[in-house]
Amino acid sequence: MLTVNAYAATAATEPLTPTTVERRDVGPRDVLIEIKYAGICHSDISNARSEWGPSTYPVVPGHEIAGIVTEVGSEVTGYAVGDRVGVGCMVNSCRECEPCRNGQEQYCLKGNTLTYGSIDRDGTLTQGGYATHIVVTDDFVVRIPEGIALDEAAPLLCAGITMYAPLRRWGAGPGKKVAIVGLGGLGHMGVKLAHAMGAEVTVLSQSLKKMDDGLRLGADHYHATSDPATFEQLAGTFDLIVNTVSAKLDLDAYLGLVAVGGAMVNVGAPAEPLSLNVFSLIMRGRSYAGSLIGGIRETQEMLDFCAEHGVGAEVEVIPAEKINEAYERVLASDVRYRFVIDTSTLA
Ligand code: NAP
Ligand code: ZN
Repeated sequence: MLTVNAYAATAATEPLTPTTVERRDVGPRDVLIEIKYAGICHSDISNARSEWGPSTYPVVPGHEIAGIVTEVGSEVTGYAVGDRVGVGCMVNSCRECEPCRNGQEQYCLKGNTLTYGSIDRDGTLTQGGYATHIVVTDDFVVRIPEGIALDEAAPLLCAGITMYAPLRRWGAGPGKKVAIVGLGGLGHMGVKLAHAMGAEVTVLSQSLKKMDDGLRLGADHYHATSDPATFEQLAGTFDLIVNTVSAKLDLDAYLGLVAVGGAMVNVGAPAEPLSLNVFSLIMRGRSYAGSLIGGIRETQEMLDFCAEHGVGAEVEVIPAEKINEAYERVLASDVRYRFVIDTSTLA
């Protein structure tokens, strides 16, 4: 057992504080990773604060992990000491159900083991990436290509794959008009990835405050959703809208922007239910869908795509003691565009 420094939430209403967690001994198929950077996802905040239902405390959040392999188990063949690797939102799954066999472990029918807040196969509660080390079974580790700096790679493990998967599945590419709603951690990755795939990209943000950034990140157009004219001007425009907003939205207004036969995909996960008028869908043959992160194979494909296209996250690297401040800034939509914890400050 390895005792490592970490940062944890101890209750829904308390700030995160320094702590230690136990990591299991390295088993035959395990990889011990020295975590270098851990991204702060909005989901970490929702979990730390029990917004999606009661969390078990203490919880060490963090599922955007980038680091270096420091030990491998006797049966590990794919990784060696010194390798640059990442871990995302999952650390195990049943591997037998149809989604698992199809490389979609995120939809494991028996429930996958999340990087934090899940009961692990040894019966312990998993604890995430706001820590100096983690032990993960090799099948759930991915390789970070040389071309991507580790701090800019960390957010790809959740924000990157969460946007890459729906953009691919719904055919973002040349000749397609794609809108990204919300320019935060997920949204800015959506802009970069959709642009790299060759789509015509529009940002739909609450205001025009981040317009220069949005255009620099690869957007072709930028509109404020606080301006009612946006919804008139862009009616029926988009082949695909990916909604990253963590709060309740007027879905019918956004569906009105989808072209005939187009789709709107929700990746944002507000705590409250969203409702829509089915006529928004049926009168134009539109689809409304959801999407959860991506499978392990697809996560590796996304990392390779990012290396090939020079895509990394735009990050603000912070020491661990700034985690609580960063949470407040994320909640205030004041993130440019992902906070990443330098885990050496935990030591
Ligand atoms: P984030 O960095 O906070 O970005 C969300 C963005 O949404 C904000 O920057 C803001 O963009 C916009 N927004 C926030 N409040 C809003 C409101 N009241 N009305 C309209 N727009 C608002 O969060 P994130 O880390 O990207 O995560 C976004 C959501 O996705 C969260 O709910 C998270 O839990 C979820 N998530 C889902 C998956 C999945 O697999 N489906 C994976 C990771 C995260 P503007 O300032 O540009 O308007
Ligand atoms: Zn996440």
